[in-house]
Amino acid sequence: MRFDGKVAIVTGGARGMGASHVRGLAAEGARVAVCDLLDDEGKALAEGLPHAQYHHLDVTDEEAWRSVVRTVEDTFGPVDVLVNNAGIIHFGGVEEQSSAQFRRILDVNLVGAFLGMHTVLPGMRARGQGSVVNISSAAGLMGFADGIGYVASKWGVRGMTKAAALDMAGTGVRINSVHPGVIRTPMGVSASPELFAHQPVPRIGEPEEVTRMVLFLASDDASYTTGGEFLIDGGQTI
Ligand code: NAD
Repeated sequence: MRFDGKVAIVTGGARGMGASHVRGLAAEGARVAVCDLLDDEGKALAEGLPHAQYHHLDVTDEEAWRSVVRTVEDTFGPVDVLVNNAGIIHFGGVEEQSSAQFRRILDVNLVGAFLGMHTVLPGMRARGQGSVVNISSAAGLMGFADGIGYVASKWGVRGMTKAAALDMAGTGVRINSVHPGVIRTPMGVSASPELFAHQPVPRIGEPEEVTRMVLFLASDDASYTTGGEFLIDGGQTI
């Protein structure tokens, strides 16, 4: 049980890959705070697990972050693991995407992950331990047409991960990014099968295949790993 006695926060944890990460962490002993906007799904998931609680959290809201982390620390204890997983996509190219949509994607995917780190890292630094896993995308290492805002946000997450890992140098806190290809979730099934048909592993990925990497990075198994980028994409980006 790699997470016995550990406390984890998973954003966007109510469904899709986030829910898979929540289940994986709970199965290995973690007390998990499921954070999302989808209250019904989030509560149902948390109620079905041994030590989990649901929190309504819009990751773009800095004050809400402070309040959720305070409650988690008061009820579960200090935060050991943060998985910044919440994300949105609006398809659109550089000429079509509205500036409002572009800004919203950056706000949720990039600023949301920044606020998560900004809120939990002081506590992790003070205790000399902690692991943050930022969910980027294969789109954080390449471009794709009609994905201008999403691609910008996921390259941002990848770069921000490296900068934050350097900020935490020598503290015992590790920060890595995970880059899934097309994964079977409500978001992933909106992608064209053409995207994965010609990759070396020519199928859609399963959320649990990403969870295994997230749990590795979140755990002490990855004790010598920080600032890294980890692809789970069936070879899509080769
Ligand atoms: P999903 O749409 O199934 O789940 C995303 C979750 O984030 C939802 O529960 C949603 O309510 C939540 N969320 C959205 N905005 C939020 C906000 N402002 N505050 C809090 N929660 C919010 O998507 P998914 O496929 O499970 O995606 C999870 C992560 O993986 C995202 O960051 C996504 O960009 C990334 N990703 C997905 C794929 C894929 O193919 N599915 C590929 C690469 C990366």
